[in-house]
Amino acid sequence: MSSNKIPVGILGATGSVGQKFIQLLIDHPDFEIAELAASERSAGKKYGDVVNWMMAMELPQNIAAMEVKNAADISLDCGLVFSGLDASVAGEIEEKYAQKGYTVVSNSKNHRFDTFVPLLIPEVNPGHLDLLSYQSFGEGKIVTNPNCSTIGMTMALKPLLDNFGLKTVNVVTMQAISGAGFPGLSGMSIVENVIPFIGGEEAKMESEPLKILGKAGENGVEPADITVNAQCNRVQVIDGHMESVQVSLKDKAEAQDIIEAWRSFKSEPQELELFYAPKNPIHYFAQPDYPQPRLHRNIEKGMAVSVGGLRPDKIFDFKFTVLSHNTVRGAAGGAILCAELMNKKGLIA
Ligand code: NAP
Repeated sequence: MSSNKIPVGILGATGSVGQKFIQLLIDHPDFEIAELAASERSAGKKYGDVVNWMMAMELPQNIAAMEVKNAADISLDCGLVFSGLDASVAGEIEEKYAQKGYTVVSNSKNHRFDTFVPLLIPEVNPGHLDLLSYQSFGEGKIVTNPNCSTIGMTMALKPLLDNFGLKTVNVVTMQAISGAGFPGLSGMSIVENVIPFIGGEEAKMESEPLKILGKAGENGVEPADITVNAQCNRVQVIDGHMESVQVSLKDKAEAQDIIEAWRSFKSEPQELELFYAPKNPIHYFAQPDYPQPRLHRNIEKGMAVSVGGLRPDKIFDFKFTVLSHNTVRGAAGGAILCAELMNKKGLIA
């Protein structure tokens, strides 16, 4: 292992998000995969023997040969862990890692609303990392990545909030199958079908943006004063969550001003030229039938959010469509970008 990279562990390495972490970290300039961990079902075995590898690349031999550790043992030889653990166990295990001095960057929902845990989208609320100084897990820290459909929508909302103010948001999602993990939904339930229910998803979409867009201080985060209403659907797309969004703004805006606000939006990850930072976090398309999952989910390594179809709305002020890659920007890639920002700010021990 080269000495100048930070050794990292992946909790839940065999899962959908865990595999994406491996794919995205293989050639990372600052982080090196040192440890893989999952449940006791996989522990003690070679990664290549237990994983149902679903990434569109060959599993590297050195990764396949690694021994999977039991994530619950809290004994990984690294200081930074990325978590893609199942939510039924993530809360307790992640907290134990932080108490033992690890820096944890998590995709799971469990700690997202802890008072001093940042719910971080590096372009949207980088200042929320200040909350880390109030955390009391011990020597370690926990930072969380928001829900996959929340991330795309909130990135599109941020320039609207900054430039025109936001009153209300209504969103209807069309979410990809990979968001349900492995083995996920059976073919019989999702092929030629749309399922108008994703457990817990609407509540996440209605609450998480308020924390992300809120103000962080010594008492935690004062939530943004915006009402968000969500309806979530599972559709038969493999990757890429699409969202039909309607907004009411505080100030009057012309469509061209909104498009300009999206196109000019840049933030700390772009200024710091972080490895997984898209040059343009938001790509606006003028074509009326864009964005589309197959065409646009991989723009800028899957880290950019695509927006299109901005037009007046008869009930709200405007409506538009948002698309983002749910396991890249919405999970592993987003979490890696959080860690890159923390690393640049000297927040990883
Ligand atoms: P998944 O495919 O079901 O993978 C779950 C992982 O957790 C596997 O590695 C599994 O290991 C491990 N695990 C399960 N029970 C465990 C236990 N008792 N002890 C230790 N490890 C255990 O799930 P996923 O889709 O990758 O999602 C992982 C987390 O990220 C979830 O909290 C999910 O809500 C969140 N998330 C997912 C997405 C997405 O697009 N998929 C997006 C954002 C956030 P074994 O293989 O050994 O069982």
